[in-house]
Amino acid sequence: MKPYAYVRARTVEEATAAHAARPGARYLAGGTNLVDLMKHGVETPGTLVDVGRLPLDTVEELPGGALRVGATVRNSDLAAHPLVRDRYPVLSQALLAGASGQLRNIATTGGNLLQRTRCPYFQDTAKPCNKREPGTGCGARDGVHRDHAVLGHSPHCIATHPSDMAVALAALDATVELHGPGGERSVPVTGFHRLPGDHPEDDTVIRPGELITAVVLPPGGDGRVSAYRKARDRASYAFALASVAAVLALDADGTVRDVRLAFGGLAHRPWRARLAEAALLGTAPTEQAVAHAVETELGAARPLRDNAYKVPLARNLARDVLSGLAAAARP
Ligand code: SF4
Repeated sequence: MKPYAYVRARTVEEATAAHAARPGARYLAGGTNLVDLMKHGVETPGTLVDVGRLPLDTVEELPGGALRVGATVRNSDLAAHPLVRDRYPVLSQALLAGASGQLRNIATTGGNLLQRTRCPYFQDTAKPCNKREPGTGCGARDGVHRDHAVLGHSPHCIATHPSDMAVALAALDATVELHGPGGERSVPVTGFHRLPGDHPEDDTVIRPGELITAVVLPPGGDGRVSAYRKARDRASYAFALASVAAVLALDADGTVRDVRLAFGGLAHRPWRARLAEAALLGTAPTEQAVAHAVETELGAARPLRDNAYKVPLARNLARDVLSGLAAAARP
């Protein structure tokens, strides 16, 4: 690991000022991903600005029923929060499906959103990788890519985003609050992570020096049911081969009043399934209607040599989760 300077920030303003004053600085919170990448030489920040002790560690109900989750709330605390378990079970389930108990105890809400792909070529500085070193090529495209993207990939990068939590947040229409040199702004989670396009080195739309301060969940409840399901190579401590987060509400006549569906493990960002949602809205969620809707979305999949299995896997997960929610939501 290369030597680096360390600064502990006491306020958000102090953190962003320290970051701005030190080119190449990185924010450090739980460090569960960043420190690993530093050990591998993938990340080489000159300064770590420690934001882990900022007063951003609370979950607060806002007037109107939204929930504001501070950026340093630990994943295990968020998963266990009574309001999250009651109103947003999809989020609690997604958090508990991620990593290990030990990691969830230290990993933060903001850090979870910013974790980097686990593509093995990205993590190995001896291999070509456009994300780690733009212009060097994509080792995975003609190499080992069983775990890689089937939706939204580009000739420059076929990586997937590893977060479970972010997939649930995409299905919940959550927003990310940011504080940076240009002031404060909010970005929908669905627009926070990028597709790789020509610039796979940029995972998100975050601007230089910006710090995630919170994630806001819109009011939950109101007859909505939700669930997260994840397929992986082993029962715990493994990233999603494919996952599904879904939120569903039915009208009194049994037709779909609200549906939100997002896939994980299939793309460079949580993949919000807008086509499937449009196909289901206003219909009775029969098995045939659900199957048709899911097919409408996954018709855009472009599997690579060794990951075509992800399409039927995601299809079956989505059909099962949506049909289960429809049964649970029926009046
Ligand atoms: Fe790098 Fe992306 Fe290719 Fe993996 S898929 S080697 S992260 S460019």
